[in-house]
Amino acid sequence: MRSTMQDTPLSLATLLRYGTTAHAASTVTTWSPEGPRRATYGDVGRNAARLAHGLRSIGVTGDERVATFMFNNQEHLECYGAIPAMGAVLHTLNIRLFPEQLVYIAEHAEDRVVVVDAAVVPLLARVLPQLKSVRHIVVNGPDAAAEPLRGIGPDVHTYTGLLEGQPEEYDYPVGDERDAAAMCYTSGTTGNPKGVVYSHRSIWLHSMQVCMAESFGLSDRELCLAVVPQFHAMAWGVIHAALMSGASLLMPDRFLQAAPLAAMIATERPTFAAAVPTIWTDLLNHLDANGGDISSLSEVVVGGSACPPSLMHAFWERYGVRIIHAWGMTETSPLGSVARPPAGATGEEEWAYRVTQGRVPAAVQVRLTGPDGLVPSDGTSVGELEVAGPWVTAEYHHDEDPAKFDEGWLRTGDVGTLTPDMFITLTDRAKDVIKSGGEWISSVELENTLMAHPAVLEASVVGVPDEKWGERPLATVVIREGADVTVEQLRAFLAEHIASWQVPERWAFVSEVPKTSVGKFDKKVIRSRYAEGSLDVTTT
Ligand code: AMP
Repeated sequence: MRSTMQDTPLSLATLLRYGTTAHAASTVTTWSPEGPRRATYGDVGRNAARLAHGLRSIGVTGDERVATFMFNNQEHLECYGAIPAMGAVLHTLNIRLFPEQLVYIAEHAEDRVVVVDAAVVPLLARVLPQLKSVRHIVVNGPDAAAEPLRGIGPDVHTYTGLLEGQPEEYDYPVGDERDAAAMCYTSGTTGNPKGVVYSHRSIWLHSMQVCMAESFGLSDRELCLAVVPQFHAMAWGVIHAALMSGASLLMPDRFLQAAPLAAMIATERPTFAAAVPTIWTDLLNHLDANGGDISSLSEVVVGGSACPPSLMHAFWERYGVRIIHAWGMTETSPLGSVARPPAGATGEEEWAYRVTQGRVPAAVQVRLTGPDGLVPSDGTSVGELEVAGPWVTAEYHHDEDPAKFDEGWLRTGDVGTLTPDMFITLTDRAKDVIKSGGEWISSVELENTLMAHPAVLEASVVGVPDEKWGERPLATVVIREGADVTVEQLRAFLAEHIASWQVPERWAFVSEVPKTSVGKFDKKVIRSRYAEGSLDVTTT
């Protein structure tokens, strides 16, 4: 028996129309040193329509890719709205990639148009001669900022010029919900980055999940500080979820350092925020040194890499801000799990849940696998996490990689445990686990423990070759300004919390742990610096 229900496509055209009409009064505020720029979602709707007309006027048709090379700002929100709604495909390019990766990605996605923020025009100008598929560049900034891009090949427009005189309404088509709406490439630490193509349907369903109380709990009562870049896994879904729920947005643009973030939180008073742990570590350090008012924030979502429990405690105990730990991947849209303790959990038990990577939502299936098949979800057996669901990718764009898929499940490359009530705890990336004398050492556990030491600002641990044990941990540590600590003291501190055979003998003190393009500790760089001998290593 078939249902009697209408089969209305889940379309981002509908979402844009809804968000900019029902929530026309919600606002997007873009930070700038000259003062914040403000617009309503009603304004965003009108600009999105003008942008869609503008893009049509320069020949964008069908499912052509329109890329963005932008920070988080109002115009980027308008791109998020207009491009998929008009039937084209939004491709968010990561502005921090190496030029070769950028060229590879833009060519691989066959980007036709690139919308670029004035501040990063020089970065785009470097690679533009190699971007063969690009026909048009749209510069979000004054005409003068477009100068370095002229005469290279593609036609150059300004954003305001493209929108000028265009109608404020657009008859967006509602197509097949399974068609492509947006794409993002993985930050790819090995091999070429891989393209994940989201559908209208997957983004819609994912947005509903993001809004749910069990996930980020967005509603029109929230002002969401979107620190996570719009090019990092679609800003973790908060942009589309804001349109769906009417949550207002605070966009930091290029002001992602701790001081401007503290200033924008104090003056704009967001209630919610999302960013990777390194952003919060910097902010905490800044607040501890300079003071500041972040009391408006009630919850912040931290994910992208393991959030050190010490960071959660510090924000909670010193600033009353609740960090919600979440896990996900570009391949999972990215929401995979959110660590909200079950009702009734208090005290130690509540914390034990909060430091996990969290519970998977109803639509995401999860299992653990090992060399001998499935691993039990008993909270202690360790295996590789595999996931499936309507917002999990089934393949990569024009890139066969069967090793990443297992009979319809996505192999995450993350290793950990799963409890019967579906809470994930990750111990490592499969490739970061340290194999010492046949035993496994969790680099994440060592990092989290080290970062709980009051003198330690940042710590990253990688496995390095060792003649006797095969591999041993190398700790790369940033000492907090003004603090004084010896290797022996750090080793003794570790030995209080973890098995002594796991305590590293090799230590490197650095001024900053190298970071990836999305702000995670870059273990590949640490390993290669160690291999080439450019790290100053103390061995005990
Ligand atoms: P990306 O696609 O760049 O966001 O990277 C996804 C990967 O980031 C995951 O496969 C994990 O290895 C890591 N990751 C994301 N969130 C967490 C988390 N909460 N804890 C530990 N690792 C995480």
